Amino acid sequence: MNDGRDRLRIAVQKSGRLSEASLDLLRRAGLAFRASRDKLFLYGENLPVDVLLVRDDDIPGLLVEGSCELGIVGRNVLDEQRLAGGEAAAPVALLDLGFGGCRLAIAVPDGGTIESIGDLAGLRIATSYPALLADWLRAQRIEAEVVLLAGSVEIAPRLGKAHAICDLVSSGATLAANQLRELTTVLRSEAVLAASPRPRGAAATQLVERLGARIAGALSGAGARLLMLQAPRAALPAITRLLPSREAPSVLGLDGRPDDVAMQALCSASLDWQHLEELKRLGARGVMVLNVERMLA
Ligand code: ATP
Ligand code: MG
Repeated sequence: MNDGRDRLRIAVQKSGRLSEASLDLLRRAGLAFRASRDKLFLYGENLPVDVLLVRDDDIPGLLVEGSCELGIVGRNVLDEQRLAGGEAAAPVALLDLGFGGCRLAIAVPDGGTIESIGDLAGLRIATSYPALLADWLRAQRIEAEVVLLAGSVEIAPRLGKAHAICDLVSSGATLAANQLRELTTVLRSEAVLAASPRPRGAAATQLVERLGARIAGALSGAGARLLMLQAPRAALPAITRLLPSREAPSVLGLDGRPDDVAMQALCSASLDWQHLEELKRLGARGVMVLNVERMLA
């Protein structure tokens, strides 16, 4: 694709919080893979698409240099490297993927003297996300010192290395275990599908678009239900109002029964037994709910 390859490459985290969900999503988008012996590479068996298994921090760089056309990475990593990289072309975020949710938050020692973000002025804040933190401090017009730590950021206050930390949080259990309290959120993040900013040939562009559409389809299909029923035509407005529906239902006439219709509606996963009982009460018959496996808009 770039550099004369004839197969597309998708970069995915090798082992970590995003690995399983990323590969699962690619499978739901219809890709089948065979692992290489060194487990660094998954060979696509049914499309000219391979998966490169790497550290998540390497994914933006692989996209910028064009070694991979697509990647699945946390928005936090993508934005950090975009800000740190300055002028260089950055990967393009195509889709939010609905997993890997977390927030980059500033936390301070429990029971300490830092009570509002204004109190951070003049203090030291430890983080593995210096560019995102510096950007946030600039926007808030707070002058504080950013201390770069590669890991174990949460113990920095106890070691006397910093007064506060700026780190990723999901449940907050790690903060609590270290007697830290969340002060404010710097960035909300989740896994995104990102694309290389490098120009590609027509075949690669087409394949990237096709995969993007399939992945979007796998995401929107997840949890969707197809509702089918028959009902008196007069009950249609009341039935339509009741449905947790994503779009207007399709309504079909029935041969020899001018007062009745058949209806199909795409609903969200919140369609439950109570909805079905209400539908019956409104005169619906033959009510059927089917899981939607995949969808192409
Ligand atoms: P690698 O070895 O690939 O560099 P890592 O240790 O940097 O792995 P993980 O801890 O697996 O990365 O996290 C990967 C991503 O998962 C994060 O960048 C973030 O987007 C997301 N994530 C979700 N919840 C959390 C959390 N509680 N802590 C850290 N990351 C989280
Ligand atoms: Mg990493």
